[in-house]
Amino acid sequence: MSNSGHPKDHGRRRGLMLVLSSPSGAGKTTLSKMLLDEFSDVKLSVSATTREPRPNEVNGKDYFFKTQDEFRAMIDRREFLEWAHVFDKYYGTPKADTEARLEDGQDVLFDVDWQGADALHDQMPNDVVSVFILPPSIAALEERLKNRPGSSPDMVARRMEDAKREIMHWRRYDYVIVNDSLDVAYQRLKRILLVERLKRLRQLDLEDLVRGLLGEA
Ligand code: ADP
Ligand code: 5GP
Repeated sequence: MSNSGHPKDHGRRRGLMLVLSSPSGAGKTTLSKMLLDEFSDVKLSVSATTREPRPNEVNGKDYFFKTQDEFRAMIDRREFLEWAHVFDKYYGTPKADTEARLEDGQDVLFDVDWQGADALHDQMPNDVVSVFILPPSIAALEERLKNRPGSSPDMVARRMEDAKREIMHWRRYDYVIVNDSLDVAYQRLKRILLVERLKRLRQLDLEDLVRGLLGEA
């Protein structure tokens, strides 16, 4: 739960929106949890969904689980940054406090499909850093879906069909990670985060620093 080992950047920074997508089962929930455990200044954007909770999922932590009527009411009240229909269920990203967190220098992690990634990028192009996670093979993807808690043969078959439709969109992303060895994939994800934090636009005190360096302060 600490950021030890990661040097503090110089001055204040604007947080970034780290958007992860993958075909279901490729490992983005696993990778997200690793990142959230290591970095206390990365916060998950908890989505709302109308799908059933899996056995190990907690309402308000993994998702806000909603009925269709509740979800539609949230759409009507314009409470979403984006929402989409995936696997016949609704999924949406609440607006809630993303902007406040970015201003406060916290990064916000999004686990959304390609439609969500596109919509978030359209709305906040300077803040979004998008990463697509690929499985090393179709066989590995199927195996991971079968082994995941709460899986059923029907669901695996359905998600294998949908996987190809999601994979087709891989070119829209800034970065791609093949999740073969989990450790290697995680190290890559971490490097993306640390490097993206150094983008000029995100380092808010540079203008003042440079004015001082040039004797213009
Ligand atoms: P997603 O969120 O993309 O649907 P999950 O993170 O739930 O995928 O991962 C699906 C399953 O695969 C989980 O049971 C997870 O423990 C396992 N898994 C994730 N990454 C790897 C990996 N690199 N090697 C083997 N199994 C993995
Ligand atoms: P799962 O049911 O496996 O948790 O997620 C199914 C798919 O819905 C995944 O591709 C996931 O990234 C996507 N998803 C989850 N939350 C959101 C969201 O808020 N918006 C969008 N567009 N997709 C989401």
